[in-house]
Amino acid sequence: MRQLTVLGVVFCLSACHVVLCHGALGEDVMGDRLTAWQPGTLDIHQISTGRGNAGLYIFPDGTTMLVDAGELPVKTKDHTPDRPDGSRIAGERIVRYICRALAHDAQPALDYLLLTHFHDDHMGGPSSASPVASCGTYKLTGVTQVLESLPVKKLLDRGWPDYSYPQPLEDEATRNYRDCVAWQVEHKGLLVERFVPGRDDQVVLCRDASAYPDFEFRNVAANGEVWTGEGVATQSCFPPLETVDRSRWPHENLLSTAFRLRYGQFEFFNGGDIPGTVPAGYPAWYDIETPIAKVVGAVDAAILDHHGYLDAQNDFLVATLRPQVWTISVWDAHHPTDVVWRRLQSTQLYPGPRDVFATDLHPANRQAIEGIDKLASQAGHIVLRVGPGGDSFRVVIVDDTSESHSVTQVFGPYTSR
Ligand SMILES: [Zn+2]
Repeated sequence: MRQLTVLGVVFCLSACHVVLCHGALGEDVMGDRLTAWQPGTLDIHQISTGRGNAGLYIFPDGTTMLVDAGELPVKTKDHTPDRPDGSRIAGERIVRYICRALAHDAQPALDYLLLTHFHDDHMGGPSSASPVASCGTYKLTGVTQVLESLPVKKLLDRGWPDYSYPQPLEDEATRNYRDCVAWQVEHKGLLVERFVPGRDDQVVLCRDASAYPDFEFRNVAANGEVWTGEGVATQSCFPPLETVDRSRWPHENLLSTAFRLRYGQFEFFNGGDIPGTVPAGYPAWYDIETPIAKVVGAVDAAILDHHGYLDAQNDFLVATLRPQVWTISVWDAHHPTDVVWRRLQSTQLYPGPRDVFATDLHPANRQAIEGIDKLASQAGHIVLRVGPGGDSFRVVIVDDTSESHSVTQVFGPYTSR
């Protein structure tokens, strides 16, 4: 763990003037408000809400992307409290966070919204308490709240336009989402595309692309289709459905989108909720992490698949991605699991240091998981701040108990490999 100590901050501040003149990282200071995004910097914010997953990406030219806006409709004792509190629904809290992080824009807006898969903790789930949208045709929760509140140019998901794989998606939450998308397309001109594995032109820099030729967003997988690493070619990891017993059809997590982001030497992986272990009696293709890890290779940072649940982060994926920084989007006593934690810590799987950051570790896991106190940070919004050119990055933790946007910890710098 490479935490910037108070002494380190003092030292850094004294050297800061010179460093900042060269446009490098180093200006975030504990206790101060998170500094604004700067052109040339790649920011990846993992937002802590206590209700689900949400990640805000600000690319080097200012292009913006939100990955998921989860909102579980019901809280249980296995969940941590809402962040910062329950006075607003999670979708609203996500929107307010985005507006703070995009304060450098005259009007905060999302160029892209990517939904990894159709589960409440990523998409939002309506309940009897959910407010109804102003148009009256859908409820506000998670992604639908974001679409209601912020201008969004392009929405990407795994199901558009027919939402029929592996079978028609007609549950209440997905129906609510689809009603919202249909309304936004008709009345707001929302562009929607199915996320196509292999492509590197569905998410691009759209504000000043020519200034950053070494940036790439590669679609790696969705619906069991995985990029081969050659051009835009893919291969299917699932057999034809008609040859599979219906009880073994791929579940929603298996169908998650996955992507790799590159900026100079810096590489980042996000695999949604893909699993990497095979339950007894299930076919080998239930491990979708292995073929995905093969094509992604080593990265500098990654978010844990499926929040670190016991069916994810298999040995091969951990040993292949071998990042310096892992982030866990977590609010639940079942995430992460101790077996996953041991794999993350294993220097047999890969040598060298690694720091792990969690958005909101459940208190029960502080006792249940041996060695979990080695977490670099147990709570807070996690901001990966990649410097100009992608050569190095820091991890900045932002207070999630208030909307102060204040820095509680700073880690790094890490050198991209
Ligand atoms: Zn999830």
